[in-house]
Amino acid sequence: AAFDTDGPTIFDKIISKEIPSAVVYEDDTALAFRDISPQAPVHVLVIPKFRDGLTHLGKAEERHENILGHLMYVARIVAEKEGILDGFRVVVNSGPSACQSVYHLHLHVLGGRQMKWPPG
Ligand code: 5GP
Repeated sequence: AAFDTDGPTIFDKIISKEIPSAVVYEDDTALAFRDISPQAPVHVLVIPKFRDGLTHLGKAEERHENILGHLMYVARIVAEKEGILDGFRVVVNSGPSACQSVYHLHLHVLGGRQMKWPPG
């Protein structure tokens, strides 16, 4: 589809540090940094440093299982560092209908306030 063309995104420049970001956690394969437009007191993005075709979760293949699992674990590391282990949310927007805007897979880690969905 046109929306998920596998080209460079702004996150490549964040990974290369060409564009500065507030890094919360970094290792060989993942980077976690604060969202520039936070939707909660804690709003951190967790991304793979090597995209390997993962423009969005809809492109996931079996070879991505390790990195996908690692990103989820990094979300937990971020939650601990940010002091929100008592309650946090991990969100992945995948595709235009989900309002994805950057086509480099990322986990949103949100916390520090009461989340409002589902209504219960
Ligand atoms: P999406 O809407 O694709 O799920 O999420 C993309 C996120 O990236 C948005 O929450 C947006 O605020 C964030 N973002 C976009 N550009 C930048 C940037 O240059 N720096 C940082 N730190 N976040 C960005």
